Amino acid sequence: MKLKMLKLRLMIFNNTAIKPYYVSNRHITGYQLQKRRLEVWKDNPYCVVCGRLVHYPSGFELDHIIPLFKGGADTIENCQIFYIGEDSCHQRKTKSDLTSPYF
Ligand SMILES: [Zn+2]
Repeated sequence: MKLKMLKLRLMIFNNTAIKPYYVSNRHITGYQLQKRRLEVWKDNPYCVVCGRLVHYPSGFELDHIIPLFKGGADTIENCQIFYIGEDSCHQRKTKSDLTSPYF
């Protein structure tokens, strides 16, 4: 009986209260994201790590300067561009975010 209640509570919790700590932009689709990607790219179409010019729309990925899971805002001002492809800069940064001693 107690276990059943616990399970039910967990289900409700999962459906409503918890947002994932880190959601890659890859999983967000739609007009808002496309618009943001274009705006950020127009403003500065260079990878923030290696400085290479990236191609719109598929040569880069948006990254949050202050990661969302560290309390960063989900705004254009908090977005930067990462080259994606072989040896992706984004993967490297994400890795270093996760291993940062300040995490
Ligand atoms: Zn780069």
